[in-house]
Amino acid sequence: MIPAQFDYLAPTSLDEALAALAEHGDDAKIIAGGQSLLPVLRMRLNAPEMVIDLGKIESLRGIRDDGDHLVIGAMTTHATVASDSAVAEHAALISKAVEHLADSQIRHRGTFGGALAHADPAGDLGAPALALGAEFVIAGSGGTRTVAADDFFEDLFTTAIGEDEILTEVRIPKHTGWGAHYEKFVRVAHQWPIVAVAATVKADGGTIAEARVGLTNMGSTPLRARAVEQALVGQPATEDAVREAAGAAAEGTNPPSDLNGDADYRRHLATVLTRRAVLAAAGG
Ligand SMILES: Cc1cc2nc3c(=O)[nH]c(=O)nc-3n(C[C@H](O)[C@H](O)[C@H](O)COP(=O)(O)OP(=O)(O)OC[C@H]3O[C@@H](n4cnc5c(N)ncnc54)[C@H](O)[C@@H]3O)c2cc1C
Repeated sequence: MIPAQFDYLAPTSLDEALAALAEHGDDAKIIAGGQSLLPVLRMRLNAPEMVIDLGKIESLRGIRDDGDHLVIGAMTTHATVASDSAVAEHAALISKAVEHLADSQIRHRGTFGGALAHADPAGDLGAPALALGAEFVIAGSGGTRTVAADDFFEDLFTTAIGEDEILTEVRIPKHTGWGAHYEKFVRVAHQWPIVAVAATVKADGGTIAEARVGLTNMGSTPLRARAVEQALVGQPATEDAVREAAGAAAEGTNPPSDLNGDADYRRHLATVLTRRAVLAAAGG
């Protein structure tokens, strides 16, 4: 289907974009890579009068080292994130997840910030961002604020970003030396996950010193498997010990039931995928 008619603006600065958002209010919609928004417009699930394209705002692109954090600009494409050596070294969990996100064409158009702002519960970046304790920098006409990952994802397709605000960058605390793995379960290649598990582990001589585990598509937002994280501390990185801890992966989750699987199936998957993800992460 063809989208409803809209006006289009491509500002070259963040201030200009924020002013346009303030002027057009509810009638405006931001477009980043367009990989999620365009299908929505084509299906006429949304019909904004003004589309504001962030593609010409250079300050929103790129990855920089900021001491104990890596900072990823909202308009940085998935392909750039996937090939960045600093991300691989200091936030390996992000590299591993983005490798599995959609196909190459979508990775070259879709953006890191767009995917997180879209907040699809099946999106591959929410669980790794949550597990790593990312911080989201959000700009509005009143200035800039930073929101912790725990408070960013509010509900299905809903984040802490206000209607008149723009996500500018995501700050990821460095996890240098931590092993990482993203275990994504799909029926066919390049699909959205039925369930996925993001695990990153600090191992010390075969013993798990710290673990962070995020779950994709096990509720309306990405979730932390905190019971698993706690159970893993001090355990040997062996099949039996990790299986025991991973048994708690579905605790506190509320997975959907759909044609790909019902909620009980997803709860079972979460335990299996958590075991695999943690063992792979602990193995380096
Ligand atoms: C066929 C297909 C398969 C896909 N498979 C997967 C998959 O397996 N895993 C996965 O995770 N994703 C998948 N995606 C989605 C892909 O990751 C998109 O790139 C992403 O969801 C949206 O990023 P975007 O830059 O294209 O954002 P857009 O589509 O431009 O925007 C998405 C939403 O976020 C808002 N937005 C965008 N940027 C900002 C910002 N900086 N500040 C505030 N609001 C903003 C927009 O207003 C819009 O509501 C798939 C997409 C397609 C078309």
